[in-house]
Amino acid sequence: MTMLSVNSIDSAISALFGPSVRVVDRQRVAGGDINRAYRLGLSSGEYVFLKCNRAGLLDMFNAEARGLEALRAPGTIGVPEPLAVGVDATEAFLIMEYLSPASRRADYWETFGHELAALHRAECGSYFGFPTDNYIGSTPQINTPMDSWVAFFHERRLIPQMKLAWGLLDDRTRRDLTSVIERLDTLLPEPAFPSLIHGDLWSGNALCGPDGKAWILDPAAYVGYFEAELAMTELFGGFPERFYRAYNEVNPIDCGYRDRRDLYNFYHLLNHLNLFGLSYLSNVSSIAKRYA
Ligand code: ADP
Repeated sequence: MTMLSVNSIDSAISALFGPSVRVVDRQRVAGGDINRAYRLGLSSGEYVFLKCNRAGLLDMFNAEARGLEALRAPGTIGVPEPLAVGVDATEAFLIMEYLSPASRRADYWETFGHELAALHRAECGSYFGFPTDNYIGSTPQINTPMDSWVAFFHERRLIPQMKLAWGLLDDRTRRDLTSVIERLDTLLPEPAFPSLIHGDLWSGNALCGPDGKAWILDPAAYVGYFEAELAMTELFGGFPERFYRAYNEVNPIDCGYRDRRDLYNFYHLLNHLNLFGLSYLSNVSSIAKRYA
């Protein structure tokens, strides 16, 4: 289905499901940090998932929809289909496939590991970046393509977050951070191949879909190094060991990854410092000190 751009939820529903189909039920879904979310029941008996926010955030929904489409393209892992993006009289909205709840398969984590690894191994071109910019949380994420991963991570990831965070940092952290950034090419390798990554994959952005398997949501997708994705999965508690073992069967993880992990997560911690404040400063300072 081609994604629609429309000016009301009702017109999206009738364009997608037929002129006589109406929204007959609207249930609030809890859990979103940023947007309001609903399950819409349709007169046809189907459901769709709706996210709403103020009209100025339309671009964020367009970016999310483009990320979902890109991640769906290789067909390796469940990703909800974006159906329509628009802005009505008051609000921006994104309508996507609704994932009805189901219980997890016994091999949920192994399958998740295998399928994410397959996504990371799928053919995705020869540059690092994405055709359009998107957002990490609500911070703009610049994706202008580059040939080198390390240069991309430097220019498009760490430098913009460092500029935003500069006023929040003490002198010691500024010195350490500057030293890390200057020596990045001695700390990080170029990957053997580029990977399309979800970009914001923590446990809150994976959900059990109707097939009992993990589906991935709310992406900040771009072509990068899969090690950066694995690092993010470990940032807030991590996934079970079974996930990483299975991942490694399909896409082997280099033994040097452990030493680099916190450096990739530097990007997310700086972003958290910028978005949520000084409670993240000690984490940022200690990573800067360790790699300086
Ligand atoms: P936000 O962008 O505000 O963080 P999320 O995308 O995380 O919102 O969605 C909020 C909640 O709705 C999630 O915790 C998840 O459980 C649920 N959810 C997200 N996408 C779907 C979907 N396509 N189908 C069913 N439930 C969903």
